[in-house]
Amino acid sequence: MPHSEDLLIKNALQVVTCEPDLFDSQDEGARSLGLIDDGSVLVSGGTVKWVGKTSDLGEKASGISDVIDASGKVVLPGLVDAHTHTVFAGTREREYEMRMRGAAYMEIARAGGGINATVASVREAGIDDLVSSGIKRLASMLRRGTTTVEIKSGYGLETESELKMLRAIRKIGRHSAADVVPTFLGAHEIPPEFKGRRDRYVDIVTEEMIPAVSREGLAEFCDVFCVHGVFTSDEARRILLKGREHGLKPMIHADEFADSGAAGVAADLGAVSAAHLAFASEDGIEAMREAGTVAIVLPGVSVGVGKCTFADARRMIEIGVDVAVATDFNPGSSMVDSLLIVSSLACSFMKMTPAEAILGITKHAARAIDRSDSIGGIGPGMQADLVFFEAPDFRYIPYHFGGDIVDAVMKKGKMVFSKAQGGGANGRISGTETEC
Ligand SMILES: [Zn+2]
Repeated sequence: MPHSEDLLIKNALQVVTCEPDLFDSQDEGARSLGLIDDGSVLVSGGTVKWVGKTSDLGEKASGISDVIDASGKVVLPGLVDAHTHTVFAGTREREYEMRMRGAAYMEIARAGGGINATVASVREAGIDDLVSSGIKRLASMLRRGTTTVEIKSGYGLETESELKMLRAIRKIGRHSAADVVPTFLGAHEIPPEFKGRRDRYVDIVTEEMIPAVSREGLAEFCDVFCVHGVFTSDEARRILLKGREHGLKPMIHADEFADSGAAGVAADLGAVSAAHLAFASEDGIEAMREAGTVAIVLPGVSVGVGKCTFADARRMIEIGVDVAVATDFNPGSSMVDSLLIVSSLACSFMKMTPAEAILGITKHAARAIDRSDSIGGIGPGMQADLVFFEAPDFRYIPYHFGGDIVDAVMKKGKMVFSKAQGGGANGRISGTETEC
C-alpha cells in the first residue's frame, strides 16, 4: 500500500474508537468503546482527520484516490504493550520444563536458572546481538497488531550493561516500524555480587546509573521491582525519587508475591502506572485510584509459571481504576509476545469483559505509558495507528484466542503489515529494517 498524504478507510464493519465521549453506542457491551458500526476513517499525513459513520462521509472524502475498503473488518487502534522486557539474550525453556515438573524457584536458581541466567547472558552479549534479536521480536509483535512497545532494561545490573541495554532499545526503536518507549530498570534484582551489600547496590543505582542514563537521554521512565524479597518500598521510593529528579517518570513493579506497600508508593509518587498487583492491598488500590495511577495486569505471567494467582482486575475496575493489560514479555515468567493472547487470558481468568480487555490493550495501555494524547484511540488528531481484524464483532478478538486474525496493521498512516501482500506468520513487513 503506497503512502500518500490523504487516505480513506471506508465501510469497516466496526470501528472501535475507544472514544466513548465522541461516539455513543446502542450496544450495551460496547458503550465504553465508542463503537461505530459501518465506520470510516479519514487519515492525513499520518494522523486521523475524521472518523464516523460511512453514511456521514459526504463530501469529506471527495478527491481522495487512496481508498482502503475495510468491508467485513473490525478496526481497532494500534495495540499498545505497556510493560515488556523484550530485550534479552538467551532463553530459559529448560527452566520452564523444571518448573512444570514441580521444581521450586530456589532449586531452579541453584541449577543456574532464574533471572541471573539472563543477566549473565546479557552482560556477555554484544549490543548488535541485542539489537538484531530485539528488531525480530518487534516485527513479530507488529504482526499481532502491536504498534507501540514499552521496553525495560534490567538484565545488566551494572552501569555499563544497563547503558548497553538502553542503547540497544533506542536502536531497536529507530529500526522498527513499531514505536518504542524506553524504561530504566536497574533495580530489577540485587545482582549476585552484591548479595549482603544491598545498600551499596541501591547507591550505585541512584548515584551512578540514574545520572548516566539521564545524561544520555536513554530512558523516559524509571521502574523498580518492588516485590517481596527484592526491593523494599523504602528503597523503591528512594530510587524513583532520584529518577524523578533526573527527569525520569516513575512506574513500578508492585506487590507480585505479597503486599509490599508498592501500590501506595506508586500513588504517593504520582506514578503513571503500577504493574502486577496480585497482592496489592485495598488501601493501595484505593490510593492508586485517587492518584490516577493506571493498573497494569499481566495474566501471561500466571500462565507462564503455571499458577492461578491473578490480580483482582474486577475489583480495580469497580472502584474506578483504569486497568491496562500487557504481556510482560520476558524469557523467565512470561514468554508471550501477543497482546491478543493476553487479552483472552484477561477475559477468561480475570473476568474482564471483551470491551474492558480491548481498552486494556489500547486506551488504558496508552495512559499507562503517558501517551494517551496520541495513541490508544481513533479520534481526530490521534496518530493513524490501526489494526484491521478479520472478525464479525469486536468480542470475537479475545474469544478466538491465539487466532491468526490480524489482516493488516497501519502505523502513522502507512501499511506496515498486510496478510494480503503475502502475509501470514511470515508476511512481508514494510517499514521494518532488519539491518542497522
Ligand atoms: Zn515486568
